[in-house]
Amino acid sequence: MNQDILQTVSRLKAIVRDVPDFPKKGIIFKDITPLLADHAAFSETIAYFAGQFRGRGITKVLGIEARGFLLAGPIAMALGAGIVPVRKKGKLPYKTLSASYELEYGTDTLEMHVDAVKPGEKVLIVDDVLATGGTAGAVCELAEKGGATVEGIAMLIELEFLKGRAKLPGRDIQALLKY
Ligand code: AMP
Repeated sequence: MNQDILQTVSRLKAIVRDVPDFPKKGIIFKDITPLLADHAAFSETIAYFAGQFRGRGITKVLGIEARGFLLAGPIAMALGAGIVPVRKKGKLPYKTLSASYELEYGTDTLEMHVDAVKPGEKVLIVDDVLATGGTAGAVCELAEKGGATVEGIAMLIELEFLKGRAKLPGRDIQALLKY
């Protein structure tokens, strides 16, 4: 990373808020709402990801419910791409594709509209936090079920100690803030 990016990273890290024991004891929740509320910080964030993925033929940006939506919108606009919401099971109104992934206890299912991506399309997957990688892995599966190619994964935050990358071999994962 160059000097400008390193400065951006330390500025943004100072704005993201750690909330201990949310949503349960032992978890340090990375609260990005102060960053979203700061125009300069949010603009720098969007410009960084647009710079990483511009010119790569991306036509859809897949935002993961719910904080991923907030990042996916402006990134998609900056890339000249459309936005696709990936939602928890049962939330989307039309026919869906679905993919399940393991949680600590049980499984969870994500859905995307069946016609949200077209075969051969290049997509970017966006979320706020890469933790264990289960969520992003399921979204890759959804995109590929729709016939799209996953060009990259953009994560505002990566919790490196949870080794999410190991679940996403061969993927181009760009994370701005690493802990
Ligand atoms: P995972 O599937 O374990 O990679 O978890 C990723 C999803 O859980 C993302 O949608 C995040 O928003 C959320 N998440 C996991 N851990 C945290 C954390 N420490 N702080 C905020 N969000 C988190």
